Amino acid sequence: MIVAATKTFGVETIKEAIACGITDIGENKVQELNEKYPHLKDEVNFHFIGHLQTNKVKYVIDKVKLIHSLDRVKLAEEINKRAKQKGLIMDCLVEINIGGEESKYGIPPEEMNNFIKEIEKYDNIKIKGLMTIAPYLPSEEVRPYFKKMKELFDRLKEIKQHNVEAQFLSMGMSNDYCVAVEEGANIVRIGTSIFGARLYNMEG
Ligand SMILES: *Cc1c(COP(=O)(O)O)cnc(C)c1O
Repeated sequence: MIVAATKTFGVETIKEAIACGITDIGENKVQELNEKYPHLKDEVNFHFIGHLQTNKVKYVIDKVKLIHSLDRVKLAEEINKRAKQKGLIMDCLVEINIGGEESKYGIPPEEMNNFIKEIEKYDNIKIKGLMTIAPYLPSEEVRPYFKKMKELFDRLKEIKQHNVEAQFLSMGMSNDYCVAVEEGANIVRIGTSIFGARLYNMEG
């Protein structure tokens, strides 16, 4: 599945992409998602792909199909609480910091199993897989990181837990999606290659 990464792009531009066959879009910021949502909700599925602040969960919980960026227990607790209030089960991906980069969010790969275990008590969350933003490297140098993600994903599939149903491996962006798909990604998040370069502070 392609999730079009639509940050900074306006509703009209996104509608053109939908006309070309895009069915799913990913937003990074809660406010931006909420601005676009009323104009697009009947035409496309929204995903949340950016860092999610706990106090903003309530603004996205009933709008998104999948949260790609579950990266801490506090966030899981809040998602669970809000999902319960709305009477829904929220599908989430666990974000992994596969490159161990300080500038990136996500849990370290070796902590995945513990993290999943800690979330077992949250009945209104379903863990549907993993997401990562790989280090920004030439394609052959990034490949080992995607391979490691695939190994983790296979390990997740082995975990027998009532709220784990591993199905999605979300990795690959404009610069590296070909390698990501070769290594087992089944969701890629593409911005630049669909919409062109982002001009920040301007509507695309
Ligand atoms: C912006 C963004 C993308 C897409 O990046 P491009 O390089 O423009 O394809 C993918 N994932 C996340 C989390 C993003 O913020």
